[in-house]
Amino acid sequence: MPDKPTKNEDEYFARRDAELLRQQRGGAERAAAAEERKSHHMKCPKCGYDLITSKWDDIQIDQCTHCHGVWLDAGEADALLKHPHPNILARVFRAVMRGVSGAKASDS
Ligand SMILES: [Zn+2]
Repeated sequence: MPDKPTKNEDEYFARRDAELLRQQRGGAERAAAAEERKSHHMKCPKCGYDLITSKWDDIQIDQCTHCHGVWLDAGEADALLKHPHPNILARVFRAVMRGVSGAKASDS
């Protein structure tokens, strides 16, 4: 009796090989996407320079070291809106702008 594979066996192995190849490609694409995301972590979405994190009145703000753009993490905008100080938004942004320009701004 010859050991020649049947048509069903050929189809089975071809499907299995195609599935393995698809899984390998998927894993490589996921790894590349994860690496790409990692390269953007704490980088300014506008100019690509580093972001630094500061805390003003318990509000955490990420700021670009180059273009001075300001970014809020999820929940920080909500924390600003719910903060008990009535002028917290102006207060925080004045503090941020003082840090950027070194200028004296009113803190009222
Ligand atoms: Zn920037």
